[in-house]
Amino acid sequence: MRRPRYSGPRQITWTTADMDTGGKLRYDLVRLTSVGEMKMKSTWRLVAECTAFTRVKPTLAVGGLNPWDHNWVPLDQPEIVISAGNSASRDQWLRVYEIGDAKCLVRFAPCLRDNRIWSFYVPGSPDDPGSFEATTAQYEGHWRMSPEEASPFPWPITTDGWLGRAAFLTQLHVLEAAAERVVYRGTSICRLCGCENGHEAFRLGGWEWPSGYRHYIANHQVRPSGQFENFVVIFADDVSTT
Ligand SMILES: [Zn+2]
Repeated sequence: MRRPRYSGPRQITWTTADMDTGGKLRYDLVRLTSVGEMKMKSTWRLVAECTAFTRVKPTLAVGGLNPWDHNWVPLDQPEIVISAGNSASRDQWLRVYEIGDAKCLVRFAPCLRDNRIWSFYVPGSPDDPGSFEATTAQYEGHWRMSPEEASPFPWPITTDGWLGRAAFLTQLHVLEAAAERVVYRGTSICRLCGCENGHEAFRLGGWEWPSGYRHYIANHQVRPSGQFENFVVIFADDVSTT
């Protein structure tokens, strides 16, 4: 799966979100991810950290290479999501890169926290000291640019006769009030009617969906994927019963 095209180079601004970062919501997310969703996991470990710098390049070893001596090539794969657990901070969504040459290729996930500290993670095994599991990000509502485009993303299809539409939109609102917002560069254009359709995305529970996703459901009778529909229904149900 590739990143949505309109997201462009990673230029993310964290904005205010209404999410309650207390233990309750985190608990719910942990429960959600254990409901049997097909969450893909991978094991990672921290190998190097340095402070952000302007002049003197730090000497680091990430798989035997200093990442500051190489061009980072983003890999064509979903981001990994490192859970913040019960802390008040956000989950970390990290892109995976590769550096090196034919003799030595190193795959890693960098993370810049508070514009101050760089952390570098590399794939590990569960037996490695300090290793942890990350979730593979899942994306909903990211579409190919045209029906003909060769793309792993789907094309929005109208589905008439779906009786759960109104309830789903209400439940989606519950999630969007709790989700983290991520601002993208540029504005998304609706694939079906051409209207301007949002410039940010929501992230929650390892899922990311654009703010304009609701427009496809409400105005073009598109039906969600089964996996995302399950996620939304379970989450909203948890919130409403507390
Ligand atoms: Zn439209």
